[in-house]
Amino acid sequence: MDLGIRGKSAIVCAASKGLGRGCAEALAREGVALTICARGKEALEATAEHLRSLGAPSVTTVVCDVTTEEGRRALLEACPNPDILINNAGGPPPGDFKDFSLDDWRKAVEGNMLTPIALIHATVYGMMERGFGRILNITSSSVKAPIPTLELSNGARAGLTGAVAALARKTVHRNVTINALLPGPFETDRLRATSQKIAEARGQSFEAVHEARKNEVPAKRFGTPEEFGAVAAFLCSVHAGYITGQNIVVDGGAYPGTL
Ligand code: NAP
Repeated sequence: MDLGIRGKSAIVCAASKGLGRGCAEALAREGVALTICARGKEALEATAEHLRSLGAPSVTTVVCDVTTEEGRRALLEACPNPDILINNAGGPPPGDFKDFSLDDWRKAVEGNMLTPIALIHATVYGMMERGFGRILNITSSSVKAPIPTLELSNGARAGLTGAVAALARKTVHRNVTINALLPGPFETDRLRATSQKIAEARGQSFEAVHEARKNEVPAKRFGTPEEFGAVAAFLCSVHAGYITGQNIVVDGGAYPGTL
């Protein structure tokens, strides 16, 4: 299927690795001009090279922390009028409610709620004027079902979800959609790091913990960044203009609810 977005421009945040990179790869294959960011230069440049080889007409890299104002300013200077915005950043650390300080909560809200809101605010009105826009927030399955060790993530991401729910209905008449993808467990550095932490806490091997987590998923495997990217690219396509305000779980069946 031709997604109809060849020649469009996209900002993909936090895209040197993992799910962000999966999204950038899928858009590169569709001929989208990309602006990508991450804090580490080396991995970002290596990813950019790969995206060019996949067919992206241009790839601009911005080494920045997207959760800071300076970082977002640099990103928007590199691509002031994107047709597509994929919001992403590292997730908050795990822990227990009793140990989190207000500062921990502020950081989580800054990174996973206010950062995407700021980027949406800076880009959505231009998209509406031009009559095309696709905004995708990478959140987490924790928006549908809380993850006990990730309370900071549960809260900040649910806040973002509520913050854009009405906006998504105000932009769609101008062919600008706002949706979220809610990943379950995907095979990325972040997932491996959390398995490692669980293994250390329980005194078990990384392999035993990682394998057990895999077996908890009805699909009996973790998702891949490639399949996540493919869903993202469809939601960014011309065919998805009638989908807005949705929170789409991509988790191999892990969320147990009927609806
Ligand atoms: P990952 O493999 O660790 O990749 C994270 C990417 O984001 C890297 O490119 C990293 O590069 C970049 N990044 C992190 N913080 C950044 C910042 N402040 N500014 C700019 N770039 C930043 O992580 P992932 O698994 O793809 O996860 C992506 C998001 O999805 C996270 O919020 C995570 O919590 C969420 N999520 C993941 C899963 C999963 O199973 N993988 C499930 C649910 C939710 P640098 O470190 O160089 O900046």
